[in-house]
Amino acid sequence: MMRDLPFDLDDTRLQAELERKVAAAAELLSDIARRFEPAALASSLGAEDMVLTDLIAKHAPAIEVLTLDTGRLHAETYRLLQQITDHYALRIRVVYPSGEAVERCVAEHGINGFVNSVASRKACCEARKVEPLRRALAGKRAWITGLRRAQAATRVGLPLQEYDAANGLEKFSPLANWRVQEIWAYLHLFGVPYNALHDRGFPSIGCEPCTRAVMPGEDIRAGRWWWEEPGSKECGLHPAKRRQAAG
Ligand code: SF4
Repeated sequence: MMRDLPFDLDDTRLQAELERKVAAAAELLSDIARRFEPAALASSLGAEDMVLTDLIAKHAPAIEVLTLDTGRLHAETYRLLQQITDHYALRIRVVYPSGEAVERCVAEHGINGFVNSVASRKACCEARKVEPLRRALAGKRAWITGLRRAQAATRVGLPLQEYDAANGLEKFSPLANWRVQEIWAYLHLFGVPYNALHDRGFPSIGCEPCTRAVMPGEDIRAGRWWWEEPGSKECGLHPAKRRQAAG
């Protein structure tokens, strides 16, 4: 069942703006599929990535959709993963961390050591997210993310396209200029499945121990690593420093 929205889906200005942005994102994805094969969407299974998954299924099915199973996800996220598999003809590739790397990290920092320091948290993110993503992207020419500028202080200057030096390939954020209302309008209008946690106050969903619900009016990233300063709240998948601003 779809959630009640705090805005009017029939608003003609919203619909016109959404139509324009959907057309631009669909064109960009088709272009990426043509010019940067092989390319992949690295999906966190959040609302933005569900918009992209739907757009890829409709306009650019050659783009691979992959997601990282860190081993610490919410039960609701695993349910959504199965729902996507049932809903779309496309298959999501599920990428796992190296068992040895996780064992080493747990031996050094503890099973929940990520709350003790930013360094311990980054070591866990490195073992469970960053290295598996690097491995999944090896051999790709481009990757796609659902990042938006309005999501965080660290994402204000987010371009549509940039060179990701860490992974050695182009990185695209087709929803960089989308507003949160447009994300939810899209999911509703096209009946796209989404994580049930979004209806329980989770605007941003990651690993279970590192994600909590936020209060109305709180920053949308306040529920991620809430014990850290805002400036350190990236897991290493999306470093804040960028070489090129193209959008
Ligand atoms: S989000 Fe938390 S549990 Fe997940 S990889 Fe990072 S530190 Fe580990």
